[in-house]
Amino acid sequence: MSVNEKETRTYLGVPLYRPKVAFFDFTSCEGCQLQIINNEGTLLDFLSLVEVVNFREAMTEKSDDYEIAFIEGCITRDDEVKRLKKVRKNAKILVALGSCACFGGVNQLKNKFKDLDWPKKIVYGDYDIDSGPVRAIEEVVKVDLKIYGCPVKKEEVEKIVLNVALGKSVEHPKYPVCIECKANENLCLFELGEPCLGPVTRAGCDAWCPNSRAGCWGCRGPAEDANIEQMIKIMKEHGFSEETIMDRLECFGGFYCRLNGDNK
Ligand code: SF4
Ligand code: SF4
Ligand code: SF4
Repeated sequence: MSVNEKETRTYLGVPLYRPKVAFFDFTSCEGCQLQIINNEGTLLDFLSLVEVVNFREAMTEKSDDYEIAFIEGCITRDDEVKRLKKVRKNAKILVALGSCACFGGVNQLKNKFKDLDWPKKIVYGDYDIDSGPVRAIEEVVKVDLKIYGCPVKKEEVEKIVLNVALGKSVEHPKYPVCIECKANENLCLFELGEPCLGPVTRAGCDAWCPNSRAGCWGCRGPAEDANIEQMIKIMKEHGFSEETIMDRLECFGGFYCRLNGDNK
């Protein structure tokens, strides 16, 4: 595509800036990247919005010339720290993509072991591998924007990228998943004896799990003003054990600060 062709692109009649974007995977299952290339119905529109210059899961070409870097995964190795810092230096906007990148995701459960060598030995045996504590991306470099979810929801990523391309601000919902669940006219799972973190979890997934009669596990982290103590009390009143409640609240790492008395 020539430079002139890029300049004539418009969206609803508005000249559209088409940023160069790059996707990078760190310690993760790569499911968030898969979400981006999933859903062929919107893939071409998405690709017309941005110029992808780096995306190991989808293409072989590589370039260090990009403006927006999407970071999937968390940091567990020294070489990842070095690579992440290089990406940060190259990118104007760095986006943490998915729960692993935003707050460690399921991986951060490893940090609960007092002796980190024990899970390493169980998983890798005697194989000599660098695998340290799990760190979210913002614990290593500055993060400009977070896109929550395990995995991220493609529609939300596309909306956010469109806003960035149009120079508009990006706002995440402040209300909880329950609002979306009620709007979808779902029967509340508590009525069916199932635990659900919908009342305290940040919305934006359109109540993905409760729509399929599965309780929310809080993969998007806490909603604004989430009352965790009240949530724990309500779950106990519904007969759920402390272990069941904490399993859910600790699973993705998003509630870590709230559980540790920090309201960040
Ligand atoms: S957030 Fe979930 S889907 Fe995305 S990379 Fe991490 S584990 Fe995989
Ligand atoms: S099922 Fe979950 S998200 Fe839906 S209303 Fe009940 S508690 Fe809220
Ligand atoms: S319902 Fe909860 S666990 Fe499921 S995708 Fe939404 S925030 Fe994540």
